[in-house]
This record gives sequence, structure tokens and C-alpha cells, in this order.
Amino acid sequence: MSRDSAIAEVLLPLALDGPYSYRVPEGMALEAGAYVAVPLGPRQMIGVVWALKDKASTEKTLRDVAHAFDMPAMPETHRKFIEWLSAYYLEPMGNVLRMVLRSPGAFEGPREQTAYRATDLVPKRMTPQRARVLEIAREGFAMRASELAEAAGVGTSVVKALAKDGALEQVALPALRRFPEPDLNAGGFTLSGDQQQAAAALRAVVAQRQHKVMLLDGVTGSGKTEVYFEAMAAALAAGGQVLLLLPEIALTQSFLARVERRFGSEPAQWHSDVRPRERERVWRGVADGSAKIVVGARSALFLPWKSLKLIVVDEEHESAYKQDDGVPYHARDMAVLYGSIGRFPVVLSSATPSLETLVNVDRGRYGVVRLKDRHGRPELPEIGLIDMKRATMDPGTWISAPLFEEVTKTLAAGDQALLFLNRRGYAPLTICRACGHRLECPNCAASLVEHRFRRQLMCHHCGHLEPMPKACPSCHTEGKMVPVGPGVERLAEEAAQRFPEARIAILSSDLARGTLLRDAIREVEEGQHKLVIGTQLVAKGHHFPHLTLVGVVDADLALESSDPRGAERTWALMAQVAGRAGRGAKPGRAMVQTYLPDHPLMQALRKGDRDAYLNQEKKIREGAGLPPYGRLAALIVSGADGAEVERFARNLGMIAPLADGIAVLGPAAAPIAVVRGRHRWRFLLKATREANVQAFLRLWLKDVRPKGSLALQVDVDPYNFL
Ligand code: ADP
Ligand code: ZN
Repeated sequence: MSRDSAIAEVLLPLALDGPYSYRVPEGMALEAGAYVAVPLGPRQMIGVVWALKDKASTEKTLRDVAHAFDMPAMPETHRKFIEWLSAYYLEPMGNVLRMVLRSPGAFEGPREQTAYRATDLVPKRMTPQRARVLEIAREGFAMRASELAEAAGVGTSVVKALAKDGALEQVALPALRRFPEPDLNAGGFTLSGDQQQAAAALRAVVAQRQHKVMLLDGVTGSGKTEVYFEAMAAALAAGGQVLLLLPEIALTQSFLARVERRFGSEPAQWHSDVRPRERERVWRGVADGSAKIVVGARSALFLPWKSLKLIVVDEEHESAYKQDDGVPYHARDMAVLYGSIGRFPVVLSSATPSLETLVNVDRGRYGVVRLKDRHGRPELPEIGLIDMKRATMDPGTWISAPLFEEVTKTLAAGDQALLFLNRRGYAPLTICRACGHRLECPNCAASLVEHRFRRQLMCHHCGHLEPMPKACPSCHTEGKMVPVGPGVERLAEEAAQRFPEARIAILSSDLARGTLLRDAIREVEEGQHKLVIGTQLVAKGHHFPHLTLVGVVDADLALESSDPRGAERTWALMAQVAGRAGRGAKPGRAMVQTYLPDHPLMQALRKGDRDAYLNQEKKIREGAGLPPYGRLAALIVSGADGAEVERFARNLGMIAPLADGIAVLGPAAAPIAVVRGRHRWRFLLKATREANVQAFLRLWLKDVRPKGSLALQVDVDPYNFL
């Protein structure tokens, strides 16, 4: 059939529910999934042909598709994935497509293959804009004018002018390097008997070429990584592509080096630090099938997979898989969805699997493979509880006497100790001792957190920064502002005083990011620091062979929150952080400071009894109809004017449909009632597992059009309740 005068339905990466129609010009051959450029208003945009239709004679005049890219078409599986995800999260399809089209460079023609690099010449005229461009250029990567300009937050004219002045030179971008074929027998250990069995079970699932979810459940260090490498090898041997998902923070150099050792070449990587040019290489490699292994953060799911045959989700319990802003998807759940659309297996790996996943195993929907510790160690290291109600603490100190003693012993033995506190900054609260005023963010209903290293107060909700005032903003008394409570920086200060000999490292996401953080983690791995102070980012997947003691400074933080997963998060975090100890030659132990030593969860921790905790938690969730025994969805109304937001939310509540098995709770002011100057009200939908939450929401919101500054956000399967 001639396509000459066909119509292309083109989906664009905009908040649109469906594609727009364009005429296919004569001589242009298109297929469904083709990447095209089309005019939209005065602009041109890249979109994807969603469908092709024969031209009907009544059709109004349409604009022409401007250009078809020489790129493998997006496979049907991937298009279906976009459609399903969009329907599940009630998100316009175009917004989901936008997550796929994340590497505009991949579409650049040969004309744009010129890049710029810094020379040694310092330009005579220097502006802050020019300085920013040069600073980035001096990092040594040749970048296109547009990329350099975007990274520096300036226009391309600044880049061009610097080139004219000789401070930047033009270089031709080298052709994208092809990804080498993985060598399936490059490395790997001789697996233990247990590991062999587990690997064989996973290989058998891969061999069936069907959709099946397998949980790989085993303590940290039991060799889960080695085992799922075998599943990956099997999928690769069958000619497929493989995606290994990790929480962003676990994507360390040492982890990538392991993948490289196992498969003989560096895998493609996809995370927020990957440079534009490399993104382009990965994107194209995934699209044409030449990138066989991708190790990536959650957004790697949206790469345009040509023949994906296996997804491994490491640390599957990790809440970092849930995206908080933009499209609020959960990457683990969407990996499972992708597997069911693409009919391939998905492996979920964790030392502390989520309750969702464990209940799916109970119900027989997921398979399970369990791994015991290779060294016969118990599931958790020995965990001691320190009852803080009985501890006598000097004001402004958080390390109790028993913990102090253990750290001292550990350091004396030449070993490494970790003090864990899941709180960034110096102090979570600053108050005036004269009048009791507490410092709050001007944009949010939240306290400002002191960050002493940066000499600033910071809002953890909107990022607002301001200097610490000398006088109280309320009563103007000077010198009376005092910090209340500890953050990691304050804990580090105490540790430096009490362990003056120890070399201390602080691992917190706001003290180091990206490569700096990756370097700091490597130094800790090498044992360069004897005392490590860290937030939850130390708990995630790292292997610190010199560490023998973990001290948890405050185990009650998540337990006391209103989060329905508070206990689950506490268990996972405690088990993970305690599990950092004793991964090398020497055994490890953990000391946990708590005001709730009698809490069933703390008792289960002390006994290392995961089943006791799980049974308790399942009972509580089932009784309350909470996930995984029921379903939740949140609706968040926000806007600039508090009264208007409340009125809108109340009116919305009035028109909520009635349905069996779905209860609408609220509206109520959100626990953090204002964020970034926007007032917030929330609804929570509680539904049975059988209820169709999406249909209910669609019906409810069908004619709802928030106006002006009002916005309505839907969060299906929420993880954030603030
Ligand atoms: P997990 O993923 O369960 O935390 P890993 O796969 O990371 O466990 O294994 C922990 C450590 O033990 C790693 O350093 C790994 O190289 C090593 N290891 C795992 N299995 C073996 C094995 N069969 N022989 C030798 N070393 C192994
Ligand atoms: Zn704020």
C-alpha cells in the first residue's frame, strides 16, 4: 500500500493526552514508531508516529511532517509501555513520552557535530557568564555550543563569542564509539552451592522467555549480585538486551567495575551525572540494540529499548525508585509492568524486600530464590539496643556512654566505625532563647535547617537559603539563637571532640554530590577514614570491608512519623545500616539508640528475627487495609492563595463519586501546609485491591479544570504523605 498521502498521528512530548495529525509528504516513508520532526505553532518538535491512517477526503488541511529521522523506530512494546504507564498514573501520554526523549543530541544531524574545548587563552573581557562557560569547558569535555550554553545557563552567543576571542577552540566530535559485545565468560567467581542453585533457578526462568517476576532474597554479602549476573548472562546469550536498575546512589564506580569484570567491558550507564554526549551514545545504542547491558537509575526504563529481555531491580525495596516530582511513577512497579508487556522476566533483588513484594510471593504471583550468607553468618550482625530513657546525656551530645565505649574499642583495634543519623545539616531547628521564636522558611510551613559547613540556613522542602541572623527576627535580641537537636554535621562535631585522634569522613548528600561523593565513598571503602558519620546514603549497597561497628544515633525517626510504611522503612534502614558492619574478615556489630526499646520492631531487630517483624507488620497493614492489602492514591490541591485552595478542595470533595470499596478521606490541610509559597490540601483514597482506582479518579476529575494558580496533582500508590 502506498503511504504517500497518509496521515501520521504524532505524539509530542507535551502535556497532551493523544497524538496530533500531520500529513505525510509525498516520498516520505514512515512506519509506526518512527521519530519525526513536525511543526507546532512557530516551532518544530520531535515526536513519535503513534499510528498511520489513510487520508480521508473530508480531512481538513494538515501540516506536513517536516522530517523523518534516520533512527530505528520505537518498538510497539515501548509504545504500549508508555500508554499503560500513562493510564496507570493518569498522566498525559505526552508527558511520559517526554521522559523517553531525554537525549535531544541523539537527533542532531551531522552539521552539529562540532564541539568546543577550552584553550589556555584567557579572554580580555571577562563576564560572570563567560566565566561560567569557561569553568565548564575547562573540565575537559568537548561539548556542543548548545550543551555548553545550557550547562552554564547562558545563550549560545556567549559560547560563540568566546570561540571568536580564542578562549574556546572548535573540535570535531568523534563518531560515537560502539558498545563492545559483552563477553559472557569474562569473569565471575566460582559460585557456592547455594549460589549455583539460585543462579540455575533464575536461568531457567530466563530460558522460558515468559513474563515471570522472581524475588532474589538474601542478606547483604550473600552474593545476590553474582547470582543475578548469571541471569543477565543467560538473557544476553539469548540475544537480548538487559537493564540493571539501581538506586542512583548505589551506582558507584566500584559497582560498575564489577559489572565490567564480569562481562569484559564497561556497560552503558544512565544516571544524572552522565554527560550529554555519552547520553546520546547510550540512547542510540539502546535504540539500535548495540548497547546490550545498561546499568542505570530509574529513568533508564524509558530508554527506547529495542529488544529488552530482562530487567533486574537491585535494592527493590528502595523508596528512591518512586519519582516524587513530574510523573510520579515507581520504577520497580513499572519494571514489572514492562516485563508483562514485553513478556520477559524481572528479577527483584534485596536483603530487605518490600512488603509488597513479599506478599506477592506469599500469594504465589512471584517466585522466590533465597540465598544464605556465604560465610554462615546470621542474617543480621549482633544488634544491641541502648535504652535512651535510661541514658544520662550531657546537653548538646548524642553519643551515649555505651556507644562511646564501643566506638573507642573499635578505633583502638584499628577498625572502622560508622555513626548513622538520618538527618542532614547541623541542627533541624533553631530557636531564640529570649522569646521562643523559631526560624521558619519564608516559602514553606517548615523549620529552617542550619547547615554550618555552608554557613547557611536551608529549607529542605524548597531549597531556600539564608544566612544565620545575628539577632532574633522576632524580638531582635542578639546572640540568643540556639540550635536544637542534631544533624550529621553536629554529630560530627561531637565525634571530633570525643574522638580527637580519628580521621572522620562525613557522607551526606548535601556535602558532596556526584563524583565528589563517589570519591568519598571510595576512600571509606579503602579504609582511609576510621570514623564515618553518615545519613541514609551510607546504608545503600556499599561494601565497607573495614567496618566492624555501626552506631545508630536515633532509630526512632521514621517509626514516629505518620508514614504507613514507617515501620517497614525503619526495618529496612536498620537492617541495611547494621549490615554494613562485619562484611570483611572480622565480625561486626551494631548498637541502636532508641527511646522505644520495647517496641516489637526493636525487639525483632535485637533478635534478628525478620519473620517476627514481618508477621507483625502484615497484621497491622491487613487490619488497616493498607498496601499491599489495599490500594492508596493521593490527590494534592495546591495554589498561591490558601483560602482559594481550601475552597477548591472542599468543592472537589463534594463532587467525589460514590463507589464500592473506595473511601475518600479529606480534604485536609497537608502536614506541610505550604511548600514553595503554595498552600496545599490533600485527599487520600483508600481502596480495596479489587477496586478500580483509576476509573474512579477519571470519573471524579473528568470535568475538573483548576484555574489560575491552582493545580491538582494525582499520586497513585503514594510514598510521600507530607
Ligand atoms: P550481595 O549482592 O548479596 O550484597 P555480593 O554479590 O555483592 O552480595 O557479594 C558480596 C561480596 O562477596 C562481593 O565482594 C563479592 O565479590 C563476593 N562474593 C560473592 N560470591 C562470591 C563467591 N562465590 N566467591 C568469592 N567471592 C564472592
Ligand atoms: Zn522552603
